[in-house]
Amino acid sequence: MRSHLTHLACARCAATYPVDALLNLCPACRSPLLARYDLAAARDALPRAALADRVGSLWRYAELLPVIDAAWRLTLGEGWTPLLATPRLGAAIGLPNLLVKDEGLNPTGSFKARGLVMAVSRAGELGAKAVALPSAGNAGAALAAYAARAGLAAHVYVPRDVPPLIALETRMLGADVTLIDGLITDCAAHVKAGVAEGRWFDCSTLAEPYRVEGKKTMGYELAEQLGWTLPDVIVYPTGGGTGLIGMWKAFDEMEALGWIDGRRPRMVSVQSAGCAPIVRAWEAGADHAAPWVGAATVAPGLRVPSAIGDFLILDAVRASGGCAIAVEDDAILEWLPRIGHAEGIFTAPESAATVVAAAELAARGWIKPDERVLLFFTGNGLKYEYLLADGAGAAVTHNGVTAIDAVGNDTAAVVMARGDER
Ligand SMILES: *Cc1c(COP(=O)(O)O)cnc(C)c1O
Repeated sequence: MRSHLTHLACARCAATYPVDALLNLCPACRSPLLARYDLAAARDALPRAALADRVGSLWRYAELLPVIDAAWRLTLGEGWTPLLATPRLGAAIGLPNLLVKDEGLNPTGSFKARGLVMAVSRAGELGAKAVALPSAGNAGAALAAYAARAGLAAHVYVPRDVPPLIALETRMLGADVTLIDGLITDCAAHVKAGVAEGRWFDCSTLAEPYRVEGKKTMGYELAEQLGWTLPDVIVYPTGGGTGLIGMWKAFDEMEALGWIDGRRPRMVSVQSAGCAPIVRAWEAGADHAAPWVGAATVAPGLRVPSAIGDFLILDAVRASGGCAIAVEDDAILEWLPRIGHAEGIFTAPESAATVVAAAELAARGWIKPDERVLLFFTGNGLKYEYLLADGAGAAVTHNGVTAIDAVGNDTAAVVMARGDER
């Protein structure tokens, strides 16, 4: 299983670079670099049927991934997550053909494992001894896990109000965790300072070329799990947008490989009304998203005021005939227990945002009832206990709490605090 990686290309100025050195942004124009492959050679070497009996992880696509030396393919079992039909949830929102890709089953409980396994594998392969990133939480935990696996030092900068269990998890996985008074953008300044001092390699979203390569495997998996077809609509909770950008790249690659035809899903970017820079830019018809001031939401992964890949997210959404939509925190909190009751999935608030968005788009007629709609459930719900209940799973009441008996079941009443009281 030889990687067909050939070079890096700037997503904006198209300058190209060799793959034998660690690079962050394009040295010429400071935009994201993307990995390019010899897809013609891969097409000859790898018919899609050859995948059938491969390992149940994202490494089943090793030829289309950037790690050259197989010994550097770190793994904790990431990827190849379940694609579930969710008819009860679908019936509740008027979409009988609803599907869920449950990314909460990844190592460290979120789809950040896909991106970070690739970034850390490549960083190690190219000689880095220490890695760092700013994070809303889950990226830091995933970085810590794979750095531990590789024997690298990991440094993580997170907002002080990061979900407490994620900070604990990240420390338990051996990373040095620094809590910052501010948002992920403020954390990024600390990581940059360390880069300037030569302390570590920066693994920030899209500021290095390989996280998006890990995330693109969601697109490969979807196609393979759906018998080499794609859904009509994909609904993706968007912070930095790496997964959306990665899947869009994967669709082009798979078409070049002869694995799928030219039909594409409509890509829906979901954000929280408390931090919706992409939605605002999409509505304004802009190519770039201005930074969001005063970002606040119960979905930590969506609290990204400014995304370096904004133009790539907006391009993909537009090219697909998709849309961008913001949802309210109250609706996110209301749907979390409903999802659990309907389908047995205890998921993250970001995932619930996709349900709210799909329900709204179905109600507007933007999604037709017979369409096949895929929601990305991006994380496991267990990390968000502070939002939901006390440690024993009982309802809690404290300042500003909203009690929501989402399913009309007194014994299972769920009480939730608002995010700004965390
Ligand atoms: C990071 C994160 C997101 C947002 O993902 P991006 O690829 O940065 O847009 C969504 N959900 C969860 C649980 C996350 O951790």
